[in-house]
Amino acid sequence: MQRFYWISFFLAFSSSLGVLHASIGDADPSYRSCLTDCETTGCVGSLCFPHCNFSSNGASVDGPWYMQEPLYIKGKQLYCQSDCRYHCMLSRENDRAASGHGPVKYHGKWPFKRVFGVQEPASVAFSVLNLVVHFHGWLSFFILLHYKLPMKSDKKPYYDYAGLWYLYGLLALNSWFWSAVFHSWDVELTEKLDYFSAIALLGYSLIVAILRSFNVRQEAARVMVSAPLLAFVTTHILYLNNYKLDYGWNMQVCVAMGVAQLLIWAVWGGVSGHPSRWKLWFVIVAGALAMLLEIYDFPPYEGFLDAHAAWHATTVPLTYMWWSFIKDDAEYRTDILLKKIK
Ligand SMILES: [Zn+2]
Repeated sequence: MQRFYWISFFLAFSSSLGVLHASIGDADPSYRSCLTDCETTGCVGSLCFPHCNFSSNGASVDGPWYMQEPLYIKGKQLYCQSDCRYHCMLSRENDRAASGHGPVKYHGKWPFKRVFGVQEPASVAFSVLNLVVHFHGWLSFFILLHYKLPMKSDKKPYYDYAGLWYLYGLLALNSWFWSAVFHSWDVELTEKLDYFSAIALLGYSLIVAILRSFNVRQEAARVMVSAPLLAFVTTHILYLNNYKLDYGWNMQVCVAMGVAQLLIWAVWGGVSGHPSRWKLWFVIVAGALAMLLEIYDFPPYEGFLDAHAAWHATTVPLTYMWWSFIKDDAEYRTDILLKKIK
């Protein structure tokens, strides 16, 4: 029984930590009183939000299913909370700026200015750009393999890592799509979808790094290498989703998986003497330097461009270079295999 209490205490404590996301900005008493006022009156100063008026919604609403309680009310509350937080933050930041103070974070985020309701327009724009560059890379890789390079008699490409890179491209597109959605509208669901897509991509690209650098070509060997990593990544996502969204632990897992694959690629580039190793090394060094932006974490310039958005911007040219390396690798491997046949 004693143990049960400890477990439930630990569960309650850890889940409250996961939800809170406290920052300096939202700990401020005048911000807090603004928020309480806004959520009861629906107004911040002279600015009022009609969807924060809950008094008229005592009775159920007529109309289609999504207009019925409680989904409709819940959606309204969510919008109301997000608008109250935003406008209280703006008014608080104006006061702070007037008294010569710099910006602080609110609920774990810098004060961003919205554009057409989009919360972090710069991060959204760069996420979309990353998505476009990935799509371009993925498509040109497909065209190279199926229309430019010679094919086997069974109409399959010689390059034995084609399937792995196709799936990589799809996971990357998925990840940048959810990144754009999350930076447009930050709620628990969009945040989880962004995080889990990124973890899936990172885990999968570690598998590709191992399979390519160790030249694992047989199906059975590929399954043996991938299975434990897939199991780990799946468990990690389930843990974050069902048990505790632990940002610190997730960061450690992601950094470990990221550093591991960068090291594998970097060493392999040197050992294998790959003709395009300079592209590989450029992406690794520039990618690692760009990570410093995430650590430096400066506030948004003019309310728009923060360190995170700048980091998303740097991955755009690196993604282009990365797909260029993948295409070089396809040509290089195809050349080797053709020479072997001759
Ligand atoms: Zn992001």
